[in-house]
Amino acid sequence: MKFYPEKCRIADESMKPFIDADELWEHLNSARPSKSQVRDIIAKSLDKQRLNLSEVAALCAATDPDLVEEIKEGARQLKQRVYGNRIVLFAPLYIGNHCVNSCEYCGFRADNKEQVRTTLSDTDLRQQVEALEDSGQKRLILVYGEHPKYYTPEFIAHTVREVYGVKKGHGEIRRVNINAAPLDIEGFRTVKEAGIGTYQIFQETYHPDVYARFHRAGMKRDYAWRLTSLDRAQEAGIDDVGIGALMGLYDWRFEVMGLVRHTNHLEACYNVGPHTISFPRIKSASGLSIPDEHFVSDEDMVRLVAILRLAVPYTGMILTAREPAHVRQQVMQFGVSQIDGGTKLEIGAYSQQDTDAQDLNREQFKINDDRTLSDVIDDLVSHDYLPSFCTACYRLGRTGEHFMEFSVPGFIKRYCTPNAVLTLTEYLEDYANPTVRDKGYRLIDRTLGDIDDANNVAEIRQRIQRIQRGERDLYF
Ligand code: SAM
Ligand code: SF4
Repeated sequence: MKFYPEKCRIADESMKPFIDADELWEHLNSARPSKSQVRDIIAKSLDKQRLNLSEVAALCAATDPDLVEEIKEGARQLKQRVYGNRIVLFAPLYIGNHCVNSCEYCGFRADNKEQVRTTLSDTDLRQQVEALEDSGQKRLILVYGEHPKYYTPEFIAHTVREVYGVKKGHGEIRRVNINAAPLDIEGFRTVKEAGIGTYQIFQETYHPDVYARFHRAGMKRDYAWRLTSLDRAQEAGIDDVGIGALMGLYDWRFEVMGLVRHTNHLEACYNVGPHTISFPRIKSASGLSIPDEHFVSDEDMVRLVAILRLAVPYTGMILTAREPAHVRQQVMQFGVSQIDGGTKLEIGAYSQQDTDAQDLNREQFKINDDRTLSDVIDDLVSHDYLPSFCTACYRLGRTGEHFMEFSVPGFIKRYCTPNAVLTLTEYLEDYANPTVRDKGYRLIDRTLGDIDDANNVAEIRQRIQRIQRGERDLYF
């Protein structure tokens, strides 16, 4: 069994497959933590130190209900202490659902003859973006099937530029992220030049044999090419990457270990961990029929989010509209920092009025939170969460913003909270209905009331007034 270094820069480990399934299982199987060990691990995380693999395995092994509650409480405290109540909002935009792969869990898989295939033309794309801007979105993630018809770095870069180019009224998209299949280094470079934010690729499962079982055809069969994709992204200069595992293909504990191992690898080789971690659960999809033995219960979902929060305290965590609103609400308190709102997966649906009913034959999978962005924001502000459309760090070149939030004293009060307030003000002025507007401004007052630096508050209030007089895109 190989033990890979978890820290220090070891350049020759970069670009190499770094998962040793036996190693991860050995950690999990040998973990028999006492109560006091679990408490020490939680305390270590609350002391802002990243956990190592054996500590994460110990948290996964803790099943005593009281200890599980303590882990959740630790995650809740960490989230509150480090990140406060901000939630960053975004929307996914599906560009095309042609696909040469046959991932067994996905409605877009090539052998699914029921799926209606489409790719957005430039005109369609602009229409979708206008509709998204009309609802108040500022951050998008573009999602693509994998097909030679359009899956090239140039095509991806072109769509990114098109999106940035659409401005309607006060609307504009200020950050375009990507969720797409792996590229080579040159391809990543081409996409970077278009000004992307995060490049997100989910490994689906970190276990090579399980991976092989679910990916029998198409280019995605190559586990190692996918596993090392974000190394190539780093080599191409994209230091803002998102990792993820599709929960339900294999034991969630193993996937949590895989995600942490991936994080360690990126830190060790590139001195920067992933910007975000995602942990989508499998949802029903057109013609889906896969074994449910590893499907993750709501209870375990909360556990895994809490464990990940403690394991990698300075990484953004994303929870999408795959989950119903009540699960999202529950999980948000344990560490999720980004959610999507107003999500529609059917290609071209954002500009259509009557797409309430989901048609699985036109979508990748079923979403379970189909509330409008306005309803999501209403719910967030009603529960004292501060919605944020902030894109300041990325635009000012402040990469590693989560790390700064975490490690630079006062960073959140100086930058993140004010920027959340300013972008929320824009939303309230331009898109909110009277009820949300009223609730939103009351939340802003409460938020500013909690900032003790009077100069800072005065500066933020001045900028709020400038936004109310018509200026836009003010940030710290
Ligand atoms: N085609 C690209 C790829 O496979 O990398 C883009 C990603 S795919 C469009 C987006 C992600 O959706 C996948 O990586 C997978 O984790 C997730 N996904 C696929 N089928 C799903 C399902 N039935 N339920 C939930 N998530 C699913
Ligand atoms: Fe294609 Fe991605 Fe779906 Fe696999 S997950 S079938 S690659 S769209």
